[in-house]
Amino acid sequence: MSHLPDDALVEVMQYLDVPDLLSCRLVCKRLAALALHRDAWRHRQLACSDRYLCVALRLAPCLDKAELQLPLRGRLMIATTTTCAVAELKLTTGCAKRGAMQAALLTRHQASLGRLKRLSLVFGDEDTSPCPWLLFWTVASTSGLESLVILGFPSRFDRISKKRKYLPDRPVSSPSLKIFRCDFHRKSASFVHFILAEHAETLRDVSIPTMTSPSDPVTASLLASIPNLSGLACPLLPGLDALAGRVKEGLCYAQLVVSSAMRPFAPAAADFLRRANDLWAFTLSIDSGDDVALELVEALVSSGGSEVREVGLQGSLCALGVLQQMIGKLTLLPSLRVLKLQGPPAGPRCVHGWLHCDAVKRLMYENRRVRLFAYDHLPRHCQDALCPDCMTGCRRTVLSQCSQLMNRVVDNVADCYNSASGKRRMIREEDMIDIYMAPF
Ligand SMILES: [Zn+2]
Ligand SMILES: [Zn+2]
Repeated sequence: MSHLPDDALVEVMQYLDVPDLLSCRLVCKRLAALALHRDAWRHRQLACSDRYLCVALRLAPCLDKAELQLPLRGRLMIATTTTCAVAELKLTTGCAKRGAMQAALLTRHQASLGRLKRLSLVFGDEDTSPCPWLLFWTVASTSGLESLVILGFPSRFDRISKKRKYLPDRPVSSPSLKIFRCDFHRKSASFVHFILAEHAETLRDVSIPTMTSPSDPVTASLLASIPNLSGLACPLLPGLDALAGRVKEGLCYAQLVVSSAMRPFAPAAADFLRRANDLWAFTLSIDSGDDVALELVEALVSSGGSEVREVGLQGSLCALGVLQQMIGKLTLLPSLRVLKLQGPPAGPRCVHGWLHCDAVKRLMYENRRVRLFAYDHLPRHCQDALCPDCMTGCRRTVLSQCSQLMNRVVDNVADCYNSASGKRRMIREEDMIDIYMAPF
């Protein structure tokens, strides 16, 4: 082994697990030094539950990702003084009040080490703490981030943040964010607008889901001024039609959240869809307001020349009849290749059940290139308690219509495109911003 060059040894060390890598430090001086080489650590991801996280923070020069559950107790000192620079930091806290100060310290410390590119902050579902304004001030003023994901943005504000002191007075040094995802509501609006304005030059994928639309047109105009926007998930916004121009210039994936409260903004959204002929993929997340959702699908198919390849209908709160009406309209999309479906609890319990829906069957017969993808990992057939469709026995006949259509069911949407011809022009799979399905 002494004849092997350092590069080769480090290459091998990349494949050792953390305990074995640390054991190399006890073998000889040369291996001890190589065991702490950046290349032996840069791809590693460690979480709070990992017993070697503390040792790594003490010894390792870098990590790809560190995942911490806040508030930290015994490990706070090492986490805020470590020289181990991480590229991705994911901080989860059940209560913003207790975890936010630590999150701000950790973010600031890692930013100072110069390698932090991706930051995720996850707050508890029912967190009613006041907004941790210091944390958001820190995040907004952190430079060099490429991805920022904030889930469960606390919706209560304390008195200080009412004065908007949670945003820096001066702009960030230079725009860097490419991916931005944040819950959007009245309390987070100023923060979201700050990020959209400051990072407009570099942003590519923006996801700001909400069930209650803001009523001012600022958000849509900020989105429209992002030159390289390629993926967008947002509610129906006033002024959304201004985004139509972006489609020509690269916006290829759009996801709209619909609720009945957003009815006043439906005309602008319909106008956007009528003019967005070059859109590659479109998803509708229906919370309520089935009629509004149907109107939007009609707008999407109205031009007839639409390039849309993928349509997703997330209708877990939608009436099955209306969902079928929407699917029926999709026969007018000549380029459609993938239909992604999520039905209400009363809807099909298996993919086979979907194939028995008249609208799905008709679409798949009229457009022979359409493949079907079911959200929620629905089984292809019922296993135990059979649904009425599985009980018919048609699944056992190899030549039945269902068996043939089943060949066009996919478990992974990316499989529908082969790299030579139908290259998927979409954002990378891991950046997908489907609101309900993204596991975090
Ligand atoms: Zn079934
Ligand atoms: Zn069948």
